[in-house]
Amino acid sequence: MIDDFGVFSRSGLILWRKSFVKLRGDPLALLVQTVLLEDRAALPELVCDGYTVRWALDNEAGLVFSVIYQTALPPAYASDLLLSVKAAFAAKYAEAIADPLFDDFSDFTAVFQSLLTAAESRSLSRAAALRGSKAPPGSRSELSTEPSSSGRLEACSPSSRSLGQAEVRRGEQSDSNQPDEEAAVEGAVVSDTEALSEDKIRQNREAFIRRKMVAGNKSKKGPKSSASSLSFDKGTSLNGKSGNSKRSVSGKFADDVGRLDFSDDTPHDALSPNIARTVTDAEVARCREQHLEARPNAAYDIISADGDSTGDGGALRSRGRVFDFFKGLAGMKNLTRADIDPPLAQFRDVLIEKNVAQEIADRLIESVAASLNGKRMESMTTVSATVRQALDDALTRILTPRQSVDILAEIAAKRASGRPYVIAFCGVNGVGKSTSLAKICYYLLNNNNRVMIAACDTFRAGAVEQLRTHVRCLGENVELFDKGYGKDAAAVAVDAVKKARDLKYDVVLIDTAGRMQDNEPLMRALSKLVEVNQPDRLFFVGEALVGNDAVDQLSKFNAALVDHQKSSNPRLIDGIVLTKFDTIDDKVGAAVSMVYTTGQPIVFVGVGQTYMDLRKVNTKSLVQALLR
Ligand code: GDP
Repeated sequence: MIDDFGVFSRSGLILWRKSFVKLRGDPLALLVQTVLLEDRAALPELVCDGYTVRWALDNEAGLVFSVIYQTALPPAYASDLLLSVKAAFAAKYAEAIADPLFDDFSDFTAVFQSLLTAAESRSLSRAAALRGSKAPPGSRSELSTEPSSSGRLEACSPSSRSLGQAEVRRGEQSDSNQPDEEAAVEGAVVSDTEALSEDKIRQNREAFIRRKMVAGNKSKKGPKSSASSLSFDKGTSLNGKSGNSKRSVSGKFADDVGRLDFSDDTPHDALSPNIARTVTDAEVARCREQHLEARPNAAYDIISADGDSTGDGGALRSRGRVFDFFKGLAGMKNLTRADIDPPLAQFRDVLIEKNVAQEIADRLIESVAASLNGKRMESMTTVSATVRQALDDALTRILTPRQSVDILAEIAAKRASGRPYVIAFCGVNGVGKSTSLAKICYYLLNNNNRVMIAACDTFRAGAVEQLRTHVRCLGENVELFDKGYGKDAAAVAVDAVKKARDLKYDVVLIDTAGRMQDNEPLMRALSKLVEVNQPDRLFFVGEALVGNDAVDQLSKFNAALVDHQKSSNPRLIDGIVLTKFDTIDDKVGAAVSMVYTTGQPIVFVGVGQTYMDLRKVNTKSLVQALLR
């Protein structure tokens, strides 16, 4: 039994739809947001809130056909129905689809009904035939031909539903959205709002990783992830925000501080007083020399302007290889996999050379292949140009934030509430968290904000003094809030935010201890800080140098944040700061890996050591660098 069938354009404009029951939430909007707009069409299905969404693409007509059914009751004829409706719709409306003014597809309802009846009866015949042979009654092969869960996208995201709904509903006949029922369908990721036992945490982690983690971590230590599912989760907000409003300090964190395992870090000497020392004038002078007086990086066309950068021989060779391959293939009409697979394989190598994580490159290429297969080529173009353009479009879509991230505007909007705007920074050790925090502080000060920095790395020796030095260097309108070492970072942040509110600071920047993604005690401490303080933004700071590990870091940070917050709508990373971009030449692939893994934007890019070396991403230039 299916619940819903839809025909819509790739942009989400619904042409025809049949809903058999009222759906909870809006799985169709999620399909548009998380599959079509993010180039994941190669995945076989999307699972969310008890529903499975499957789809078929008609690339030539630019149409998407979707079928929605309850995951627990998969109809055996879903694929059959998709294909027969796709063929019938294309045949019936071949001319109408090309006419932008034509919008009445209502007479398709009768056609659909007969196709549905035919598909059901074919399925019954198949089941009867199977029963006649060896499939035992009730076996999966008898009941369903759906793919196994290993290849599907799970994208439960209640808070994402607002995004894209309007677009999807245009011209829609259905009244199937029912946001009030969201609470009833909160799934099993973190449903227990009581204190989490160690067992529960382990179960959550295992369930999360099994169902949601990005593939490809097989060689790394830690839990295995499924081969091609992708990690979105409850509370992964597609617009970069999460709706949880709980702020109370939870009892489950009460013992954390004493139990934290800091084995990955160098601790502040436990025997010395836990008070950070004052910094010397010489230290401040050195900091000023390095971060304020040194010459800022002027050479960032990839980031700051649209122009091409020069590129090296390797990049040029890559380009040559790709384009040489296609000489003589111009003039074809409808593309087939045989046409597009070889050039896409070449582009895959180029992406990997540019440091895109291998699994991300594979998915991206497969998705572009799915979107091109059967597509009619424009006249006067070549296969190579068509493939390149499709990849360019896909990368641009991935790297373009769904919502523009304007931190200054967000700060201004928050000001009226009388509370400071809070940004927390997290990431592994040594990636440039404190330096990026200081750069962002400099940027905010230059835009007339008063900033409080909360020293919540209460563990690493020298962490507080490092920030104190930056604060002295940065000058006026910035203050450091610290409680020294050995304190509960979450509590320090709470006090800092309180003080900032009382003193009418505009922004609080929370520095946190660096931690490896597999360090569970430290991840629990970070989750506590995030859950208790509910920052306006949680930035992940990552090095542009990172390759395949980018996916591992980000998916495990997010997985741990899910595991260790008790809310069913936990806060996750909702912005990325990419550091050391000045050190990677044109190997800019980490940007793609990070955005693809989280669905979150790169808000700032670090291009050097001075405070001025902070940029925003220029998507066009980044894509050019990737495909060069
Ligand atoms: P944390 O441990 O993550 O807080 O890292 P730090 O902020 O202490 O930075 C580690 C090192 O990376 C320092 O030497 C920084 O000067 C350097 N660093 C940070 N950001 C950048 C950047 O964008 N470019 C370059 N070249 N170096 C950077």
